[in-house]
Amino acid sequence: MDGQIAHILYGIGRLAAVQRAEQWQAGTAGGLSPAQLEILSRVAVRPMRSGELAQHLGVSAASASDSIGALEGKGLVQRGPDPDDARAQRVVPTEAGLALLARLDGGSRRMADVLAALPEGDRADLMRVLTGIIRGLQEVGAIPVQRMCLTCRHFRAHAHEDAARPHHCDFVDAAFGDAMLRLDCGDHGTAGPDHVAANLRRFGRA
Ligand code: SF4
Repeated sequence: MDGQIAHILYGIGRLAAVQRAEQWQAGTAGGLSPAQLEILSRVAVRPMRSGELAQHLGVSAASASDSIGALEGKGLVQRGPDPDDARAQRVVPTEAGLALLARLDGGSRRMADVLAALPEGDRADLMRVLTGIIRGLQEVGAIPVQRMCLTCRHFRAHAHEDAARPHHCDFVDAAFGDAMLRLDCGDHGTAGPDHVAANLRRFGRA
């Protein structure tokens, strides 16, 4: 393995270890298992079906269902109708669940503080790099396809000359920059392979 790649992997591993430790501590303080905290954090961003949560966590449907049931028992989440499918239900946070999450600072307070202190341009670069890495991992089947800009039919990479806001979201009909790239968007619409390939070419070339 290339030495530089080994250093990058080491750095990513350190960051992941810090985040896991912080989430474990926060979950313990809130009386939640790491899986329960992760589910609560995910549905606070976007309500999801239980199967989708299992995919995000990389666990079996039965295991995700157990964690969701425990959160329901604590009054932190509930099942609600899925606007995309009348026969399905989504897991949504309750007021108590959102309040607990706010009290726990989302489970990653120190990591969030360090990220917030970075210059805005560095955060934008980071979003761009993360988007590329996650898309690459999706292509090799290492993680499930996410509702991210790069796989969205509303996304047009580098549609504008403006270096600060080169991309365009057709859903809201607005230009935006790398800092606003989304990795899990509620308004995502799955794009066809040609649209994704064209965006990847423009995204990767810039
Ligand atoms: S709808 Fe969401 S995922 Fe799609 S381009 Fe707009 S911001 Fe990105």
